[in-house]
Amino acid sequence: MGFPTVRLRRLRTTRAWREMLRETVIDPADFIYPLFVVHGHGVREPIEAMPGVYHLSTDTLLEEVGKATEAGIKAVLLFGVAAHKDPEAHEAWDDEGIVQTAIRALKAQFPDLVVMTDVCLCGYTDHGHCGLVVDGKIDNDSTLEVLADVALSHARAGADVVAPSDMMDGRVRAIRKALDSEGFSETVIMAYSAKYASAFYGPFREAAHSAPQFGDRRTYQMDPASRRQAIREVTLDIEEGADVVMVKPALAYLDVIREVRDRFEVPLAAYNVSGEYAMVKAAAATGWVDERAVVGEILTGIKRAGADLIITYHAVDAAEWLRRGDL
Ligand SMILES: [Zn+2]
Repeated sequence: MGFPTVRLRRLRTTRAWREMLRETVIDPADFIYPLFVVHGHGVREPIEAMPGVYHLSTDTLLEEVGKATEAGIKAVLLFGVAAHKDPEAHEAWDDEGIVQTAIRALKAQFPDLVVMTDVCLCGYTDHGHCGLVVDGKIDNDSTLEVLADVALSHARAGADVVAPSDMMDGRVRAIRKALDSEGFSETVIMAYSAKYASAFYGPFREAAHSAPQFGDRRTYQMDPASRRQAIREVTLDIEEGADVVMVKPALAYLDVIREVRDRFEVPLAAYNVSGEYAMVKAAAATGWVDERAVVGEILTGIKRAGADLIITYHAVDAAEWLRRGDL
């Protein structure tokens, strides 16, 4: 049976029908809000390539998170900008480091907030790489111990979720082992499992002051053309104990998100990265796209592809639009 008996437009005639039959619904509880925290007081410094995103000191961070929780955001992901960088990334695992200090402040004021932390070395190393450098190369195995120390210091400060983003082999296992041995068996690991070496990270490097000082990250992040490798990465991270896996970036990798969703039962996050955000903001600023409509479509598309959680700089705007019924 087909046309003219069957007419799919019948069920699109009114807004009520369209909303009743909507197959994918986004909600503020889907969003994770990434934030950049810096030393100092009263700092709210705009990040040029990411309009609406700021470097925040701990006090202004609390204000920003207050706004976010009011909009319905349940989780934040913290990135630290180190005061001091050195080859071994000392501040990364310092209990008085910027992220550790911010975690304690957030948990004191917002006990129900899910505090997630990025676990990596690139914001803390003077060479800007995600691992330790030995003989001019990024050394996998010695980096694992440092990453475990970083994750432990975040857990001690009160982080609910640690999120390793370095792409070293074996890091999830090393972190799980370290957390469990110190009594942090409830700390969640959200692994950046399929993290591609992407040009869409450009604006983030300004934000995190983490551009590599030599070479690039292609010896540890994935080649953008590979899909089967993503499945292997996710498989290994789950075997090593990842509670949540991630695909990053999101928009040029929706097929990878869908495939991971279809193959695994584990919760899946997708990172709607800085370059994706910057393109929307730039086009909206010139009037070339309608920001609200485009953001709604992008976030819905990422969820429709299979993501349970979306890390996005649009989080607070989108949550407010959703609350007002404007998305
Ligand atoms: Zn890194």
